[in-house]
Amino acid sequence: MDGQDYTVTIDRGDRFTTAGSLPMPPHHSQQAAPEADAGRSVPIAGLLVLFLAILLGAGLAAGPGAAAAAEPESTDATAWRVGVARAVITPDTPVWLAGYGTKREPDGKLHDLWAKALAFEAADGGRAVLIATDFQGVPASMSDRVFARLAADHGLDRSRVMLAYSHNHSSPRLGDDLVDYYPVDPAQEALVDRYTAACVETCLRLVGAALADLAPATIRVGAGRAGFAVNRRDNPEAEVADRLARGEPLRGMTDHAVPVLTVTRPDGALAAILFGYACHPTTLSSTTYCGDYPGFAQVALERSHPGTTALFVNTCGGDQNPLPRRSVPLCERYGTMLAAGVEEALRGPLDSVPARLRTAFASIDLDYERVVTEADLRQAAADPNAIKARWGRRLLAKLEAGEPFASAYPYPLHAWRLGNTLVLGMGGETVVDYALRFKRQWGAGTWVLGYTDDMAAYIPSRRVWEEGGYEGGAFLYEYGRPAFRWAGTVEERVAATVTTLVEKVGPPPAAERD
Ligand SMILES: [Zn+2]
Repeated sequence: MDGQDYTVTIDRGDRFTTAGSLPMPPHHSQQAAPEADAGRSVPIAGLLVLFLAILLGAGLAAGPGAAAAAEPESTDATAWRVGVARAVITPDTPVWLAGYGTKREPDGKLHDLWAKALAFEAADGGRAVLIATDFQGVPASMSDRVFARLAADHGLDRSRVMLAYSHNHSSPRLGDDLVDYYPVDPAQEALVDRYTAACVETCLRLVGAALADLAPATIRVGAGRAGFAVNRRDNPEAEVADRLARGEPLRGMTDHAVPVLTVTRPDGALAAILFGYACHPTTLSSTTYCGDYPGFAQVALERSHPGTTALFVNTCGGDQNPLPRRSVPLCERYGTMLAAGVEEALRGPLDSVPARLRTAFASIDLDYERVVTEADLRQAAADPNAIKARWGRRLLAKLEAGEPFASAYPYPLHAWRLGNTLVLGMGGETVVDYALRFKRQWGAGTWVLGYTDDMAAYIPSRRVWEEGGYEGGAFLYEYGRPAFRWAGTVEERVAATVTTLVEKVGPPPAAERD
C-alpha cells in the first residue's frame, strides 16, 4: 500500500486561478409547473397547484400539503433526462482557508476547487438539482440567496434543490460561516463577502447550465467500500497509527459504505459519477487550497474515466476523521482508496433506477437546551479561548442593541426518492449514527447526506448528546449560535421529521421488506 508514488504538482506559481471557467448558459425559460410550498401546509393552494399540475401533465413536488400519490408511475429506466455542469471555484483573491480556528492565508493550490451540479428530470416532468461543492461550510445566509433565485428563475422550489458541501478544510471562508473562528479583519471580511457573492452567482450559472444540459440518460446505483474513516470520538488521534501498525482493531462506529450513482448517455458515455463517504475532509491543515481526500478522489475518477464529471457528497461524517493525517501523501492515498471504492461499485452489479422522482423538504425549529444570558456572554467575552471570547463579544453587542435571540434554529431536512432509491439530505455536521439509523430503517441503499444547505452546527444523536464531548456537548458557540447545546430531543425531532418526509415521497421497497 505504501509502494505508490504520491507525488502531486504543487502549483505555487499560479497563486490564484481565475474562477469561473463555466460559459454563461442561455437563459433557461422552460420552467417546471408551479409547485406546492414545501415548507408549509396550505391545502387549498396545494389543491389548486395540484389541479394545474395535472392539467399541464407536469410533476409536483411532494411537499407538505401536496399529494405525492397523484403522479403516474413510470418504470422506464431510460426515461430520465439528466444534466451535468461544473465550475471552478478556486478564489482569485487571498480568501483565508476555512474550518480551523486560526488565520490561514492561502499560498497557492494543489488542484482546483469545484462546484458541480446534477439536474434530474423524470419522465413525468419532475425536476431536482443537486449542487455538490468543495466548500468547507455553506451558511444559510448564502444558500438562502441561491434557493430564492432558483425558485424565481427556474421554478425550483426548496424541496427540489440540495446544496451540498464536502466540509473540505482546505477551501475558502464563505459569508458568516464559523464567523467567530477567525480574527476580525475588515479587509478580509470584504474579500469573503465578494467571494461569497461570486459563488452565489456561480451556483446559479451552474444550475442553469445543468438544466440546459438535460438529455436522455440511464441512472444506476451501487456501492463500494473504503476503510480509512476513523471514529474520532473513540480513538485518540495520537494512538491510531500505532494501533493500525500493531493490527489492533479501532473502536467506535463508522460507516465505510461508498454509495455510487452513475449517469450514462444512450451511446454508453459515462457522463457523471456521484459518490459519497462519511468522513471529515481534514487530512490537511496547511494554507494551500485543495479538495482534500474528496478532491483527490474526484481527480482520480475523472482521470480514469475521461469525459466524466465526478461529484462528491459527505454522508454523515461529523464524528469521523481520516487518520492518521496531516500529509499530502496520506491525503492523496485516501483519495485513491475512495476512488477504488467507487471503481468497485462500478464493476457492478449496479441497479437501474426507474425514472420516477419525488421530493419533499422541511425546515424544523431545532430547540436549544437553553438560550444564553447576558451573564453567560460576559463570562465568555473574558474567556482565554479566542473563539469563545469573540462569540461572547459579538452576541453581547447584539443583546445590547436589543436584538432578541431565538430559542430554536431553523434546520433543513430533505427526502428525495429517485426510483426506489431514497436520498436524505440533512443540514450541518451529522454524526454517523444518523446514517446507520436511517439505513436500518429505510434500507441499506439509502443515501444519508449530512453537510447539506446549511452548516448549522454539529447534529449529535441522542447517544452522542448524552456522552457529550466535542460533537455533542456545549460547543454551539463555535457556530455562532445563542446557546451552548441542542435540547436532548435533537435526534427524536430530526428522525420524526425524516419519517414524515419519507412517507411523503413514498418509502422504498427495501424499507417495506425490513
Ligand atoms: Zn467538522
